[in-house]
Amino acid sequence: MEHHDLLSGLVRLHVLHHAAQHPVYGQWMIDKLARHGYRLSPGTLYPLLAKLEREGYLTSATAREGRTSRKFYTITRKGREGLEVARACLNDLKGEPDP
Ligand SMILES: [Zn+2]
Repeated sequence: MEHHDLLSGLVRLHVLHHAAQHPVYGQWMIDKLARHGYRLSPGTLYPLLAKLEREGYLTSATAREGRTSRKFYTITRKGREGLEVARACLNDLKGEPDP
């Protein structure tokens, strides 16, 4: 992903946003982010999900689907708080006049 460091915060916010709506799993998130123009490989997304979980923004549960199992991530209270704060910051940025 170009400008990776700059955009990684936004990617994390997208993840939180979607995990606030319903439990999400890795491949679903990769497809969703691709539609937003963020192309992430599993090697980038999975560590990102794990990090958000370690930091307390997401919680995960494994669900069986036939012969395979899948890890679903859901937002936590801390995640909702962080998302709200970040949304306010983004609105602030949006309100800035163009140079
Ligand atoms: Zn999104």
